[in-house]
Amino acid sequence: MKMLGNITASLCMVAQLSRLQDAGRMTEEQASLAKAFATTKMRETVGLARELMGGNGILLEHEVGRFVADAEAIHSYEGTREMNTLIVGRAITGFSAFV
Ligand SMILES: Cc1cc2nc3c(=O)[nH]c(=O)nc-3n(C[C@H](O)[C@H](O)[C@H](O)COP(=O)(O)OP(=O)(O)OC[C@H]3O[C@@H](n4cnc5c(N)ncnc54)[C@H](O)[C@@H]3O)c2cc1C
Repeated sequence: MKMLGNITASLCMVAQLSRLQDAGRMTEEQASLAKAFATTKMRETVGLARELMGGNGILLEHEVGRFVADAEAIHSYEGTREMNTLIVGRAITGFSAFV
């Protein structure tokens, strides 16, 4: 249930963001929130899938290990979770915690 919930919540958020982008109303802060949320949930979801598969979750022939590696890459490029969190934090508090 956690994996399905993560995927469903991420899909809903990304679909809404796409609608806002199509309408020319998406902000950078909304994009940061979606990226930080969806990639964190993706990491958790593929981690659970890997755990479910035991040792087979690491072997490339079962694909799960490939998804784990993909999740790690997506979590960092085009803005790491930390940087996106700082951007969202500034938007909701009005204070910048960047150093
Ligand atoms: C698969 C892949 C493809 C990529 N493709 C491209 C590409 O096409 N073009 C491109 O330009 N780059 C690309 N990158 C690089 C990517 O943009 C960087 O890896 C990413 O921006 C993080 O930068 P860094 O690796 O230098 O980490 P660093 O900036 O060294 O950060 C290391 C850690 O410290 C945290 N951190 C950094 N600064 C702060 C701060 N001020 N406050 C709090 N925490 C902080 C980060 O969040 C991270 O966790 C790619 C990376 C990957 C993994």
